[in-house]
Amino acid sequence: MSKRQTIDTRVCIDDRLGPYDAKVDPTNLWNGFLSPHFTLDTVRKLSARTLEIADEDGFDCMETVHVIDGCADSPSSVHVIEGGTDRDGNRQRVAVHVRWPVIDEDLDQAVSIFKVRPGAELRTTEPAGEGEPRAVVFVVRWEWWDDIEGGEQAGVVYQPDDKGRYAVGAWSWWWRYAGWWCVCGANSDWHETECLCGLTRDGQPKTPLGIAAVKAGLALRTLAPGATSALVDLTDLARVCTVFAGDTEIDTADDTGPFDTETLGWADRILRDALDDASPADLGAAGWEHVPDEESARLYRITFPVPPTH
Ligand SMILES: [Zn+2]
Repeated sequence: MSKRQTIDTRVCIDDRLGPYDAKVDPTNLWNGFLSPHFTLDTVRKLSARTLEIADEDGFDCMETVHVIDGCADSPSSVHVIEGGTDRDGNRQRVAVHVRWPVIDEDLDQAVSIFKVRPGAELRTTEPAGEGEPRAVVFVVRWEWWDDIEGGEQAGVVYQPDDKGRYAVGAWSWWWRYAGWWCVCGANSDWHETECLCGLTRDGQPKTPLGIAAVKAGLALRTLAPGATSALVDLTDLARVCTVFAGDTEIDTADDTGPFDTETLGWADRILRDALDDASPADLGAAGWEHVPDEESARLYRITFPVPPTH
């Protein structure tokens, strides 16, 4: 049996939750969904977001995440959490009872989450204490409110893993990998840092001219897959005048070489659009390399990302 491998990635649920940094075991799937492990800081962000969604869309369509902070030496505390109203207009509330003195030994015994009967008087008593900080992470199942009996747990408490991370929503929420878009138009999972076009997630061109150079390269490579750079003449309207595969010039005549005038014109247009608002300083910043030349004072080399060889 192979050892379980975890990866650092980002996860989300549609565009409602996340993306959040998480550790994921890619082989631990539930109906195809992930069971990400989050730091406590991330759980706090996740908590805030679930409460925001519940406020906007109603508690009946959102399980809310909660973090209660206390200390290892705190006396037991009670926390009342409001969850809107049920169909008959009654307030929905749960009471969370935390027995801090046993929290390290038996989390299940230490935390109970019960529905509060309508009209019952109950107030939060904040945990006192000055010892080691402890936190309780749980989800309240408002969606199943009507199905939860009075004496039944109305939430799910999450045990931290050996690194202090919490697998909130594991085996129940629809967590997926968050993605990133490459300038070339391809989408990859967050942890897949190298795009097939040769660019990396963290090495994406940021400026319009840098992006245009990549796109012009992709346009040229549709007909000349080996193209790695081009010379662009900016004397008049920008024009790709020479295309190279490594050190070798590729014939750009449309009757003998691989290119047609449409494709060269397409590459020119991509570059011209980006050049409209560009200053000479922008050229250098975007990696456009000035090439001294007798005929044209404004000759620049643009270099394309090269797909990794397999
Ligand atoms: Zn790409």
